[in-house]
This record gives sequence, C-alpha cells and structure tokens, in this order.
Amino acid sequence: MNSLWVSPVMPDYDSARATFSWRRERSRLAGLPDGGVNIGYEAVDRHLRAGHGEHVALCCVARDGSVRTMTFARLAAESSRFAHVLGTLGLERGERVFTLLGRRSELYATVLGTLRAGRVLCPLSTGSGAEPVALRMKAGNARALVTTREQYERKVAPIRSRLPHLRHVLLLDPGADPPADTLSFPALTRAAPDEYTVAPTDPAEPALLQFTSGTTGAPKGAIHEHEAVLAHHVTAAYALDLHEGDVFWCTADPGWVTGMSYGIIAPLTHGVTTVVDEGDFSPARWYGILANQRVTVWYTTPAALRMLMRAAPRGGDPSPAVRHDLSALRFVASAGEPLAAEAVLWGREALGVPVHDTWWQTETGAVMIANFAADPVRPGSMGRPLPGVEAGVLACGEDGRAAVTGGHVRVLREPGAQGELALRAGWPSMFRGYLHEPHRYEASFADGWYLTGDLVSRDGDGWYWFVGRADDVIRSAGHLIGPFEVESVLREHPAVAEAGVIGRPDRLAGAIVKAFVLPRPECPPDPELRRDVMAFARRRLGPAVAPREIEFVDDLPRTRGGKVMRRLLRAREPGLPEGDLGTPETTAPAGTAETSGRPAEREP
Ligand code: ATP
Ligand code: MG
Repeated sequence: MNSLWVSPVMPDYDSARATFSWRRERSRLAGLPDGGVNIGYEAVDRHLRAGHGEHVALCCVARDGSVRTMTFARLAAESSRFAHVLGTLGLERGERVFTLLGRRSELYATVLGTLRAGRVLCPLSTGSGAEPVALRMKAGNARALVTTREQYERKVAPIRSRLPHLRHVLLLDPGADPPADTLSFPALTRAAPDEYTVAPTDPAEPALLQFTSGTTGAPKGAIHEHEAVLAHHVTAAYALDLHEGDVFWCTADPGWVTGMSYGIIAPLTHGVTTVVDEGDFSPARWYGILANQRVTVWYTTPAALRMLMRAAPRGGDPSPAVRHDLSALRFVASAGEPLAAEAVLWGREALGVPVHDTWWQTETGAVMIANFAADPVRPGSMGRPLPGVEAGVLACGEDGRAAVTGGHVRVLREPGAQGELALRAGWPSMFRGYLHEPHRYEASFADGWYLTGDLVSRDGDGWYWFVGRADDVIRSAGHLIGPFEVESVLREHPAVAEAGVIGRPDRLAGAIVKAFVLPRPECPPDPELRRDVMAFARRRLGPAVAPREIEFVDDLPRTRGGKVMRRLLRAREPGLPEGDLGTPETTAPAGTAETSGRPAEREP
C-alpha cells in the first residue's frame, strides 16, 4: 500500500458524529452464526469464513531479530487447541484464565482460545513482581495460569499455597524436569484437535478482567463483556485509522488494557497484520521494526516516545526517518498519559508524521477521545470524543470531583471551563463492574454519566485538554495546577532526564509545587543546577506554577506503562495523610523493579 495516498476512514468528523449509531455499527461485526457475539470469533473465525485464512495475522519478531509469521488459519487452529484443553481440564464457562506472558504467539492463542471457549481472560504483566501477581490472581480467583517456567518459579511457585483456586498451571517451556503441579502447554495443545466451535456467548457475557494500572491507588479489576468488541473494532477504524492491508504495531505491554484492546483484539478483528515484538526496547530495535516490517499504523506511549526523543532530539541530522526508511508509516498515536506538545512536533520531524494523542481508561475499554487522521493535530490536546461517545465537563465541588446534588450534576458549557471529564454511560466497551467492589462501581456513575476522575477543559471548538487526575491536581494559593504541565517543562531543561511533581502541604498556600527531578547522568545534582532548573521553570511557567522546591532523586516511581506514581512521591513527604500509599501489598515500593528505574533501562 502506498501509505501516503490513503484517505482517512473518517474524512469528516461532524458528519460522522451526526449520523453515528452503535446499533448500525453492529453490522460491522460478523456475529455468531446462531446469534450472540464472541470476541474470539470476531478476531479469527470471521476471517476464515470470509476466505482470508491465509492472510498473515501475526508477524513475530524474535529477540534475535528473526521473523516468523502466523496466518489467521493457523491462529484459529492454535487457539482451537487451547480452547479444547480448557474443556479437558474441566474449566467451566465464565471461569478465569490468567496469562503471565510477554508478547509471543502463544499469548495470542491463549487469549483467543479462552475467549472462544467462553471463559474469561485476565492478562498480567511479566513486569509485575510476585506480590502484585499473587494479589491479582487471588482477587480474580484464577483457575488456570499460562506462563513460562522462569516466571512461574520466580513469582508463583513460592506463593502457590496462597492460591487455592488455582487448579492448573500450564508452562510453555516445562523442560525435561518440570516443576511439581504444572502441566505442559505444548504437550496438551499438541494432543488437542485444531478445530473448535465457538461457545454461544451472549453479548453481555463477561469476557475480560482487566486490572487498572494502579497509578492512583490499589489496582481495580474492571470487568468487560463480549459486546466490547464492537467498540474495539469501531474505534480502531476511527481513532487509529486502521485500513485493510495495514501493518499495525501496538507497543503496549500485554498486561495493560491497551495491549489487550489494541495489541490483540482490535487489529485482529480488522484482519490486518499485527507486529509482535518479543524483544526489549531499544531505539535501534524499534526503528528497525518500524522500517523492516513496513509498519503503517503505530500505537505507542508517551513514555516510549520520550525515550526515543532523548535518543534523537529535535533538530538532529539526519532524523530517524531519514536514517531508517519510515516511508510506510502513515499514522502514529499514543495513549496512557498526557502527550506533550513537544512530542507531537518531534514526531513530525523524526518520524515524518505527527503523534496523535488518544485518551481512554481501563474502565472505558476503548479509546474515547482522540485526534483524528483527517484533522490537523492540536499539539497538547487529547482531541475530540469519538462518534458515539458523549463527553462532558462537570462542575466540581470542594473535593475536586464532580459535584452531585440531589442526584444531578452540572455540565459546564463555557469554553475553557475546567471540571471532571464525564462520559454518557452506555457505550459497548464500558466496564460492567469493579471486581468485588460494587459500591465503588456505583459511585463511578451519577445522573447517567460515568465520572472518569480526570480533570479537563474543553475549548470553544470542542477539543479537550487534560489538566490532571483529580487525585494529583495541586491547589496552590488559588491556582489549580496540573502536575503534568510542570513536568513537561522541567523535562525540556537540558540537564533533566525525568521529573515528577506533587503538591506539598503548606499552611499558607494550601500546597506548594514540589518537583522530584532525576538529572541526566552527566549532570551533577548540585545547588547550581537546582537554581538553574528553578529559574528555567519560572521563565516558562511563571512564579505561581513553577516549582518552589526541587529535590534531586535517582529514581522515580512509575507504573509498568511509564506513568509517574505521584501518590508514592507524596508518601515520601512527611506530614501527608496516611493511607495515600494504598494497600502496601498491592504496590511494589518505590525503587523496586516494578515501579521504577531509569527510563532507558526499562521496556515501556
Ligand atoms: P488507577 O486507576 O489504578 O489509578 P490508571 O488510571 O493509571 O490507574 P489506566 O486505566 O491504565 O489506569 O489509565 C487511565 C488513566 O491514564 C486516565 O484516567 C488518565 O488519567 C491517564 N491517561 C490515559 N490517556 C491519557 C491521555 N491521552 N492524556 C492524559 N492522560 C491520559
Ligand atoms: Mg484510573
């Protein structure tokens, strides 16, 4: 495909919005032959029925750079085998299969086999330590786990006795002398038939349990139904501009919602080829994949983009787009945390295309707000709500969350007004519950709106701008300050590698802006640097918003996806209320492998 000459899926936003209906979009799905909807069926079976079984579904790039491909027919066969295994093992409909796997073809076979069999899939990240893994498996009543021997021995075997619900552990590489109480994934799947009739799942049947990132507290388990696939499919077209024939690469960790909704489900439902990178991040590797696999649509994260920017700053000559042949790349998008305007502009220079910000959450299941292919990107803006998604800015009360009076909320319509971002309940991938927390689920809705917990403003043209998470926003001497804005500016200082910003309680101002700054390795963190960074921030942000205090650190607590865990920074401050840490069991403390590290050492 000549990527430059593809017209956007949605050429005109206003008319698409005006005529959109989820009911009509339903015809884009195949649906089960006897009624009902199944995510796995939409991802593989429909393509076989349509005669596209020989199309390449997965293009797996091994650590050593060698490439193996897997067709839709083969993926259907492998996932069929796994679906049969679940039956043989006695897993009931609705019981949960957990994965603790990096990106590899067996992950896809497991996920699709589980969904096609009407069991529920819960993906965990291999970046999580033993405690977070145990906690999620316990909370989710994991019946079966698919993982590698190394992950099992390190994280699960030592706590297996604490997981009474866990009946079966399937190892991809059990070896000649397998650990006790484990089964061989290859042996079981080899022995199973390679055809499977998809379970007759109802659209409202649970399909996925997806844990949130745990940025603001203990991770919550969000429950999604098979019907969510309609939103996965439609949003991949509208927000990611996915076309037939595309080569799509989503870099998100499979344990995170982006890695599931867009790393696995959405591209497969479109029948496009998905790149599966089995290796670790390095700029050379990633540019190599973009170039050699002729990636046309790339979905990544601000954390990854920051690392690439650091390796090849703006104005560098020649740019990565010249050094590597990125001419196939047509559309780049990012999700998960705010995308700095700088990153959008960097994309234009370094990749040859701007980066399109998209906003969503584990709870929303799919992208809700985006910069679309047909529109010029507004650097720094999250974009506009997708067709079929009604968003609103709600007036907040004293606690910084939407004020609900007599069951009603107040929608702010003046351009620029700040408030809590809310979404009209009812889109197909809306979560249907928080695991074991019905009250928290109920409290997330008011007056027909789902309350997101994020503060935003909307400009006169209807574009949304991220201010901060309600939990993170700093109220200082009458100003409402989003920490991200301050962090972005600090990161632009040549000596600053990373920054995390919080409000430190202050008797007079309410809070003062405090920055934790990770200097670049070659820059000594001395008083002169502190003064220089402070002055830089003041010039750029003004004295009311610039940090009043800077503390140099040698790590920043982050989630696996690269988000700064400001609650852990706050917890480092004396005088802050206890309980801000969340349940200690759920969160690896700052400085451990799961949550921190210099960015260049971690896979984003
Ligand atoms: P937890 O809910 O456990 O605290 P989390 O909110 O980080 O963790 P996710 O569901 O992975 O878990 O992330 C969703 C959140 O990420 C959003 O609510 C928002 O705060 C942030 N986010 C996602 N995309 C964007 C974006 N494009 N711009 C700004 N923030 C974003
Ligand atoms: Mg959240």
